[in-house]
Amino acid sequence: MSGTVLVTGGAGYVGSHTAKALAQAGYQPVTVDNLGRGFAHAVRWGPLERGDILDRAFLDAAIRRWQPQAVLHFAAHSYVGESVTAPGLYYRNNVVGSLTLLEAMRDHAIANIVFSSTCATYGLPVRLPLSEDHPQAPINPYGASKLMVERLLADFGAAHGLRSVALRYFNAAGADPDGEIGENHDPETHLIPLAIGAALGTQPKLKIFGTDYATADGTCIRDYIHVTDLAAAHVAALRHLEAGGASVACNLGTGAGLSVRAILTEVERVAGRSVPAEEGPRRAGDPPELVADAARARQLLGWTPQCSDIASVISTAYQWAARQHNRSTP
Ligand code: UDP
Repeated sequence: MSGTVLVTGGAGYVGSHTAKALAQAGYQPVTVDNLGRGFAHAVRWGPLERGDILDRAFLDAAIRRWQPQAVLHFAAHSYVGESVTAPGLYYRNNVVGSLTLLEAMRDHAIANIVFSSTCATYGLPVRLPLSEDHPQAPINPYGASKLMVERLLADFGAAHGLRSVALRYFNAAGADPDGEIGENHDPETHLIPLAIGAALGTQPKLKIFGTDYATADGTCIRDYIHVTDLAAAHVAALRHLEAGGASVACNLGTGAGLSVRAILTEVERVAGRSVPAEEGPRRAGDPPELVADAARARQLLGWTPQCSDIASVISTAYQWAARQHNRSTP
């Protein structure tokens, strides 16, 4: 089955890559985005409805115009640090925005939603790798806001028959292998684009946040998953719902962790130059290790990462960053 689907946050990083994957799978993605943090130029695979998910009248009009059969919901703020200093922003946008969207779906009888969740809903790991039944005890408002939306999905499921897949991403990374879209955060806070920027001279020296963790090389370990693999998982989740599959939450990761130093080594190999870096203190709220148990997504959605080997992740991210850099320098 294919048809029109609403993609909230389709002008953002994971949303735009998913819009491309949806179009390639035969769907018509209609992006709903306020362009607060997304980019109109990233909306290339279907129309853009510019507006806010907090605006119920806007949502009603967009739904009436396009008659979507399902929703993929990415629109959210996603900076952990900012969520600590401005929690109201996160609860309003992420929770109240999602509630507004779910009420609109209920009233327009749209039953299926794929939701962009996060491994930040788990908080500090008590066992690794993290499986979906690990306790969810987020340690920042960003993770808490996403967990609240998971709860909304369950309650709307019980009361109104809403059917959902919540995809809990680990570390989204990389860029479209065709070079059409990539990662553009402002401000940038993520390791890979910052390390590449430091190598290219577009970002300051990289600060390594903590070298005294109880890991093999003393730096934090994360599970980096290519954004194109994340996009494919959303299409698989949509098909799962369309085939009558039950509501579920699934981790999206590779199951393998890499340290900060391992990432820097790979960036240096791909860039062919060193990454200016300095060792610094730990960043508050960073667990030493986060690695997914991704067996459920494999079994239930038939999804396996295709391009999340670290060479593909770093080389696509590097090509995207280098092109942006070349465009902006005369
Ligand atoms: N990190 C770092 N320096 C930076 C940014 C990140 O050492 O300038 C580390 C961070 O402590 C974490 C890993 O890189 O262990 C990935 O961080 P990122 O912000 O990319 O993603 P997060 O894991 O916070 O979602």
